[in-house]
Amino acid sequence: MKTSQMAISLSTILLGSVAFNQNAIANAANSGRLVVYCSAQNTMCEQEILAFEKKTGIKTSFIRGGTGSILAKIDAEKANPQGDVWYGGTLDPHSQAGEMGLLVQYQSPNLQFIPDELKDPAKVKGNYTSAIYLGILGFGVNTERLAKLNIPIPKCWKDLTDPRLKNEIQAADPQSSGTAYTALATFVQLWGEDQAFQYLKDLHKNVSQYTKSGNTATRNTARGEASIGVGFLHEHSIEKEKGAPVELIVPCEGTGYEIGGVSIIKGARNLENAKKFVDWALSAEAQELSWQKGETHQILTNSQAKQSPYSLDFKSINLINYDFDKYGASDLRKHLITKWVDEVKLAK
Ligand code: PLP
Repeated sequence: MKTSQMAISLSTILLGSVAFNQNAIANAANSGRLVVYCSAQNTMCEQEILAFEKKTGIKTSFIRGGTGSILAKIDAEKANPQGDVWYGGTLDPHSQAGEMGLLVQYQSPNLQFIPDELKDPAKVKGNYTSAIYLGILGFGVNTERLAKLNIPIPKCWKDLTDPRLKNEIQAADPQSSGTAYTALATFVQLWGEDQAFQYLKDLHKNVSQYTKSGNTATRNTARGEASIGVGFLHEHSIEKEKGAPVELIVPCEGTGYEIGGVSIIKGARNLENAKKFVDWALSAEAQELSWQKGETHQILTNSQAKQSPYSLDFKSINLINYDFDKYGASDLRKHLITKWVDEVKLAK
């Protein structure tokens, strides 16, 4: 039995059930504050933090930043940490933070509701990060804008390099965005590094803007500022639900996916409250809130949580076997991002 599994069983015995645990959260004489660094979509950050504060009485504030940006912030603040818990965003930067010694291990009793294969997803084991959702990478197409250009709807990643799509694509910048790094790592896993970078250079000719966060490219596509936005399909899905003329495309070559993470920051001033927040993030109640009020349709990891009616069926999609240990490693992530900046974004 792995140490993490042992700890989970022990917690299960001690706490009995999640109901007990949730009451414990609600009834404990909580005090103090909590600062959340949030890399999920903004409405989700707001709604989750509001609900947590209401449930626990802990005064909670948050700062929203892309997953890459928050990693850089936590690293810059490591001598004097300002945040307690990092909520949401793609696993790779969380995993890198664990490797860099920026996080604290925490095995929440609610890990008992997370499937075995997702129980301890980061490279360094011991639950420096836990898995709160899954999201599938793809692109959204603004069908009205594309129809005006008289271009058929692209179905494959390679279709996005069609010269007729010049300035019609928005994607995020992998320096700040976890979404964009997921895309970069996906292309390398699909085709190998050389071909992936050739593809990114070809794609670059059609990109009008690299946004800071993945969901900005998504929103801009929904608003008709671009014909195509590379991003997570659960974010395009919310724009479609709100009435935008957007079609969600799972690219024909197959695609990558994210595991959304939650981690406690090393040196957190409010460590006990941070643990309560991780318990909350892994609970069915919090996860359901992400689609009920948080305006996002990712796939939930708590096996007892009711999935959004709009969430995609993970098993029916042609997904790569994303290697989170490899692509969440500090050296490889730094290498791929530096190469992208030098050879794609800033190349003459
Ligand atoms: N918002 C949602 C709903 C997400 O699923 C993700 C990825 O985890 C993000 C935001 C991350 O955004 P960014 O690309 O800015 O790191």
